[in-house]
Amino acid sequence: MQELISLRGLKVYYPFYTGFLSKITGAKLFVKAVDGVDLSIGRGEILGLVGESGSGKTTLGKAVVRLVDPTEGSILYDGVDIAALRGSALRKYRSKLQMIFQDPYDSINPRMSVFDVVAEGLVINKMAEKKELEDRVMHALEDVRLLPPENFARRYPHELSGGQRQRVAIARALVMRPEFIAADEPASMLDVSIRGEVLNVMLDLRERYGLSFLFITHDLAIAKHMSDRIAVMYLGKVVEVADSEELVKEPLHPYTQALLAAIPVPDPTAPKIQVKAKGEISNALNVPPGCPFHPRCPYAFDRCRTEVPGLREVKPGHWVACHLY
Ligand code: SF4
Repeated sequence: MQELISLRGLKVYYPFYTGFLSKITGAKLFVKAVDGVDLSIGRGEILGLVGESGSGKTTLGKAVVRLVDPTEGSILYDGVDIAALRGSALRKYRSKLQMIFQDPYDSINPRMSVFDVVAEGLVINKMAEKKELEDRVMHALEDVRLLPPENFARRYPHELSGGQRQRVAIARALVMRPEFIAADEPASMLDVSIRGEVLNVMLDLRERYGLSFLFITHDLAIAKHMSDRIAVMYLGKVVEVADSEELVKEPLHPYTQALLAAIPVPDPTAPKIQVKAKGEISNALNVPPGCPFHPRCPYAFDRCRTEVPGLREVKPGHWVACHLY
């Protein structure tokens, strides 16, 4: 698969002042939200990004679409490093990289009609005149199955269901004709009954337009359903990457095994991996030395407490960051 995006050593650190004195002296700590991530996303690929809350998934998604500035590292988009671009140089790439947020209530202005919400990006960036604007908005509404589009265009967000609102959010991204969308838990606020609708719209868009997605979720079962490959993140680092089927069938990293063990299995006789992570995810301000997972890992040994394991390809296409391999 041809590569569209390649992240190399990507870091996003946020300064954190511990008190009044530290503000005066400039002494500060850093929240290492993303800490040296190497990942690639192919054209037309859906890469699932999985991890607990606090693992850095959302920050990574925002960094890729340049909603937050990386501290270090590169983001190669079609071979061009966009990590350090600013102003008009960055604007050229903005429409190609879009993001869908978890909560459509938050991300959509309730005072704007559906038409205006979807058209906003095109209007602000002066990307289409009246006729083309209308065609593109109607087409985007059709693409997300808000049919017939003219019935939805003049409605307001409060007149829509949660699933319809999230489809408006997808249409708003789609109207910009992106090549890549970072979708941050796009179905997690929705009723189980309508979750499938929204996820199927995204699968359909990938088929029709060859869009690439970074599909961010805390739910490994949904990630497996949606993604070609899955990357697992823990405290700012990617700890395992593999083909979706393989990652779920044969997880290698103890953290991935613990995530899978937490998924309820409907068949009580089905074999289940029984790995339990101890305690809670650590604070990103206070990442443990060595392997960041070692305080919770049932297999931790001396080396794990001092040496950070690098991400290694242990089988073709299956990468893991753990001293056991
Ligand atoms: Fe566990 Fe050590 Fe592997 Fe980290 S490196 S996951 S602590 S065995």
